Amino acid sequence: EKNGIMGGNDCRILVFVRLRPMAKKEKEVGSRCCVKIVNKRDVYLTEFANENDYLRLKRLTGRHFTFDASFPDSTSQYEVYTTTTAEVVEAVLQGRNGSVFCYGATGAGKTYTMLGTVDNPGVMVLAIKDLFTKIRQRSCDGNHVVHLSYLEVYNETVRDLLSPGRPLVLREDKQGIVAAGLTQYRAYSTDEVMQLLQRGNQNRTTEPTHANETSSRSHAILQVVVEYRVKDASMNVINRVGKLSLIDLAGSERALATDQRTLRSLEGANINRSLLALSSCINALVEGKKHIPYRNSKLTQLLKDSLGGACNTVMIANISPSNLSFGETQNTLHWADRAK
Ligand code: ADP
Ligand code: MG
Repeated sequence: EKNGIMGGNDCRILVFVRLRPMAKKEKEVGSRCCVKIVNKRDVYLTEFANENDYLRLKRLTGRHFTFDASFPDSTSQYEVYTTTTAEVVEAVLQGRNGSVFCYGATGAGKTYTMLGTVDNPGVMVLAIKDLFTKIRQRSCDGNHVVHLSYLEVYNETVRDLLSPGRPLVLREDKQGIVAAGLTQYRAYSTDEVMQLLQRGNQNRTTEPTHANETSSRSHAILQVVVEYRVKDASMNVINRVGKLSLIDLAGSERALATDQRTLRSLEGANINRSLLALSSCINALVEGKKHIPYRNSKLTQLLKDSLGGACNTVMIANISPSNLSFGETQNTLHWADRAK
């Protein structure tokens, strides 16, 4: 595997943390807040709600982390979008692929960050809105075409969320790895998109025991392909394509416990192969390795052309403030710290 066009390692992953507000249920059982975010960068894990001895916490292992930016629970969807993803969208218009992931335990706020609600749309919707605004500003020079695909990886099976049915087969062709028969929805404006994505999200796999809840093992991937065509002075057609992948990952709680085991030993163990394979790829990219093990899972195969190399990669780690989630939060912060 080539690592970037220069063969070198120009891979830089931006890593962000987003703290969600305390949930009503968490308050009712009397849980305390164990996360403090200072200066929009430093994240401290505290034992006591009123603890603010940051110098002491800095000396303890696993209590202090720092990221490209860290978002306190009051941060708006718009601020999360502009800080994490706006530049990736701009680059996609220039023909540079990019991917944005939400990582974290179930209930930590991944789907809220990615999809959001009708009143508070998340990164997926704001990215498409911004994309159309930017295209409109440039519409005098050439032709932009936008296609959306929304798919799920669940138990190493790929499904089309815009047109549910039989599992999709991954094939390798000249353009890379494609899911055969995947819906390419031609989008003309933002208005239709929120509904489309909400409906797609309802098509995500649910656990039989929790029929209304999205399975914590389901990954949802929105791919936005922007094609730009223009004729130059001598009437040659210039074609530029950029792809943006926005990923609402499966819950990280099960993967972390077994991080040290090999993928082979996980077969049949009901562990999320795609999530582990993603971790391996990110670690290999961060360490500047030549070989990136994209082939190990469906998720990493699908993202091969959007992760590492000459791409922009953004990771948003979602965490809960409750002391009841202390262990999961610490694991998520460790994981995010290694992706830097
Ligand atoms: P996940 O997808 O990681 O399992 P969700 O995004 O479903 O978690 O979030 C769990 C709950 O917390 C949901 O009810 C969601 O609306 C709420 N929530 C998450 N993040 C925020 C936030 N930043 N502001 C307000 N509510 C949030
Ligand atoms: Mg979710």
